[in-house]
Amino acid sequence: MKVNLPVHRGETITGTIADLTYQGNGVLKVAQYPIFVPDTLPGEKVEVRVTKLTQNFAWGMLTQRLTTSPDRVENANQMFLQTGIAPLGHLKYPAQLKFKQKLIQDLLTKAHLDLTVAPTLGMAAPYHYRNKAQVPVRYQRGALQTGFYKRGSHDLVPMEDFYIQDPVIDQTIVTVRNLMRDLKLRAYDETKQTGDVKHLMVRRGYYSHQVMVVIVTRTSKLPHAKELVAGMVDQIPGITSIIHNVNAKNTNVVLGPENHVLWGEPTIHDQLLGIDFTISPLSFYQVNPQQTEKLYQAAIDAAELDGTQTVIDAYCGIGTISLAVAKHAQKVYGVEIVPAAIEDAKLNALHNQIENAEFVVGKAEEQMAKWQAAGLKPDVLIVDPPRKGLDEQLIEAAGKMAPQKIVYVSCNPATLVRDLQRLMEQGYRVTKPIQPVDQFPQTTHVESVTLLERTEID
Ligand code: SAH
Repeated sequence: MKVNLPVHRGETITGTIADLTYQGNGVLKVAQYPIFVPDTLPGEKVEVRVTKLTQNFAWGMLTQRLTTSPDRVENANQMFLQTGIAPLGHLKYPAQLKFKQKLIQDLLTKAHLDLTVAPTLGMAAPYHYRNKAQVPVRYQRGALQTGFYKRGSHDLVPMEDFYIQDPVIDQTIVTVRNLMRDLKLRAYDETKQTGDVKHLMVRRGYYSHQVMVVIVTRTSKLPHAKELVAGMVDQIPGITSIIHNVNAKNTNVVLGPENHVLWGEPTIHDQLLGIDFTISPLSFYQVNPQQTEKLYQAAIDAAELDGTQTVIDAYCGIGTISLAVAKHAQKVYGVEIVPAAIEDAKLNALHNQIENAEFVVGKAEEQMAKWQAAGLKPDVLIVDPPRKGLDEQLIEAAGKMAPQKIVYVSCNPATLVRDLQRLMEQGYRVTKPIQPVDQFPQTTHVESVTLLERTEID
């Protein structure tokens, strides 16, 4: 069925931006029909050309900004906006924090949930925070380049300052790039499937200052490896580990399964809330350590742990939350689907002499049902699921296990709101304002902690 749309393609429209979407685009409404316009902010009067139409929404291109929002960052770097490094880079930081709070609040309102969202916990200096970088290596403008893809493409934008990464990581990338240029290494060509170096990954411990460089190649060949390593050891402050990773596949996955230590250690270390973690090239490790500590502390505070409780940490990764919680609990059980992550979690427990944490490989929803059948009665359940949120089976098992408290760490407000409704049906209610914590300043990602408590149901 074709309905009449209130605008047509190529039309120029003048109006005021009403809202900002989850992707960071401004919304211009014509008779309730939304037009998404990149690089516009709520309250700005704009002139827009409609570029693309669908039944439910359109896309527009800003042709003229007639008024400017007081929340706009003047002269925001277009490169950071276009690459997706900083899709909110044009919005002042206090307004970014409000945007994240409002985003959750709006979703709750839409779901008819009368709950409060606390102001977002932000960073004092919301830049240069990432402890990990993965950058493509390509040949462009007559030289080997490192940089970032343009949003939604594989077109490399050469770059030296990545704005949200640890500056030592940025320097390290430039050093390796220059060494590769001097040694005439060949960059990967995605179309022709030729060349050697595909990606660089760099990690740096926030507290330890240890640096790991991973060079990803298309084949097992890394020409001039010796000279390259010598130059890196000489020029990179804090270098601890140089790894050669082979990724023969042409997919969006950066790292292949094979790692060879070229120099130094196979891993680096860093700390979170005073606990030491071993990080290998393939480990998942939170990328904003300062804010991760705030996030975990918020979860620990919400659970009001006093050393007597039994805690389940579902979706535990390498056990970061479990181990941070362990010294405040009697016993912690962690479950995680990736076997290598559980190996890391066990080693991390051992190295930190934490003896009251137990880790199991499995699907959280299945393991919860097993624990429940075995009679495990946790006081607190902590969940930190991926973007798709909680599985129905996990919610049912949680309802049967009936822990007094559930702490929901969420990276996706849409599934959070859905899951809160389902947990309420299991007899839980939200007893504290939902606490957003800004893990990814300058981007649209929204993380939060919600406390639910069990109530008697008739
Ligand atoms: N709590 C950890 C990791 C959170 S990320 C931290 O803060 O570092 C979510 C984790 O859930 C990932 O490690 C992912 O591998 C895991 N995961 C995804 N689906 C799962 C499932 N069905 N059961 C258990 N773990 C799962």
